[in-house]
Amino acid sequence: MPTTDDMSQHERKLLRRAGSDHLNRWLTHTASTRGCRRPVRLTGSIDTVERATGRILDTRHTTTDMPDGVLYVPCGDRRASVCPPCAETYRADTYQLIKAGLTGGKGVPSSVAGHPAVFATLTAPSFGPVHTRNVNPKTGKVAPCRMRRTITRCPHGKLLVCTARHTDNHPSLGRPLCLDCYDHAHHVVWNAWAGELFSRTNTALNRALRPWERAYGVKLRISYGKVAEYQRRGVVHFHALIRLDARELDDPDAILAPPADITAQDFAELVAGIVPTVALRTPDYADTDHSWPIEWGPQLDVRPVGNLGTGQITSEAVAAYLAKYATKATEATGLPPTGRMTAEAAEHYSDAHTHLGRLVAYAFQLGTLPQDWTTDEQQADWHKTWGRLRRWTHMLGFGGHFATKSRRYSTTHKALRAQRRAWHRQQHTDWRRRQVDRLEHQHEHDDDTTLIVCQLTLAGIGWNTTGDAQLAADAADRARAHRQAAKEERTTG
Ligand SMILES: [Zn+2]
Ligand SMILES: [Zn+2]
Ligand SMILES: [Zn+2]
Repeated sequence: MPTTDDMSQHERKLLRRAGSDHLNRWLTHTASTRGCRRPVRLTGSIDTVERATGRILDTRHTTTDMPDGVLYVPCGDRRASVCPPCAETYRADTYQLIKAGLTGGKGVPSSVAGHPAVFATLTAPSFGPVHTRNVNPKTGKVAPCRMRRTITRCPHGKLLVCTARHTDNHPSLGRPLCLDCYDHAHHVVWNAWAGELFSRTNTALNRALRPWERAYGVKLRISYGKVAEYQRRGVVHFHALIRLDARELDDPDAILAPPADITAQDFAELVAGIVPTVALRTPDYADTDHSWPIEWGPQLDVRPVGNLGTGQITSEAVAAYLAKYATKATEATGLPPTGRMTAEAAEHYSDAHTHLGRLVAYAFQLGTLPQDWTTDEQQADWHKTWGRLRRWTHMLGFGGHFATKSRRYSTTHKALRAQRRAWHRQQHTDWRRRQVDRLEHQHEHDDDTTLIVCQLTLAGIGWNTTGDAQLAADAADRARAHRQAAKEERTTG
């Protein structure tokens, strides 16, 4: 709680800024942060240099001329728990990206709407029984967590039955029935190799297209967009949109329609048949002959996407669903969004009496370089394999990207950001606004003869005062409401 002194100081600062003649200038200057909670502050200069001679053509633009003497750049964090406004931008972009891959637009041909596509959820296997909320999808009723005809005890004396009908967000959800029976080591190792498993699945699916290629005399490939999500038990699973494309040998970037005879249902059957066959084994763990199998769990869900037939889901629903998960991190597991863990932090979160504490402890310990692995070769090897568990302890072993796509699935986050900036430039004809844009995005302004050279250094992270933070957040809210109103006017008018 801020004290009265803090409050009055805060209000004084707010009033000083709000009352200043420079307020509008400041708001324009900070508008591109879109209300970011902790923008990056940069200081320095920008020079326009003649490419051929290296002669400086223009040196006027330095951050010294700008309000606060800094350039504000949004943090761009995709995690809603870290920066809600930036996460919202990321979510909206992910939605556009996924949707373009299903219906076309943003440089993707609209004919993709006719390609067979499936929405697949790929999960991890069981590492031991956990408390779950069992909702009957037809009736919506909640069934008991774990009912067994005969009541058994595990070797540690725990009852392997739970008659509770767990409420959503119940703290025991995702927690093992017996901590000692649960294979925490295998769990974190699975997270660490999950990305590799997905990549092998992609290869296996492309290979499985060969009989169709021979039958129809065309070349085929799969394209996908996927997001990773943490289940409550702390293991990642993937939601993937997988689309069938025909390809051309001479023009690998072309996205062509596959033979019309192949239906989404055929494609779904192919995917459902291949995924369970993909598996790998980790390398042997340091100086032991122990390795872990990495395979998908039996809870595979593959659904055709489209508007034909019944029980299918629409592309809008799929895109919205995937976009929502793209902004989540490990929140579902109860682990706060931390950065990379130091030995002290790992020690702090390690706890033999909790599920999460054991996952952290196993990830950190399995990922720690053995003391006698001293050669460069050993260390490089460790870095690529088990070392990932230590680097990604804060993600319980998973070091992959949260939203990824195959090269030709759709547009990119980068392209969407560039589009937004172009829109911003159109809206702000103000000279200073253009300079800020140039500072931020020098590459887009590169032409053949001149080069924009930025010499910017980090001045800090976050707003200077809580008053500034509030002003920026309010302005972003107003801008968002304005955009929303304009959008509604467009759709109704
Ligand atoms: Zn931000
Ligand atoms: Zn239970
Ligand atoms: Zn047990």
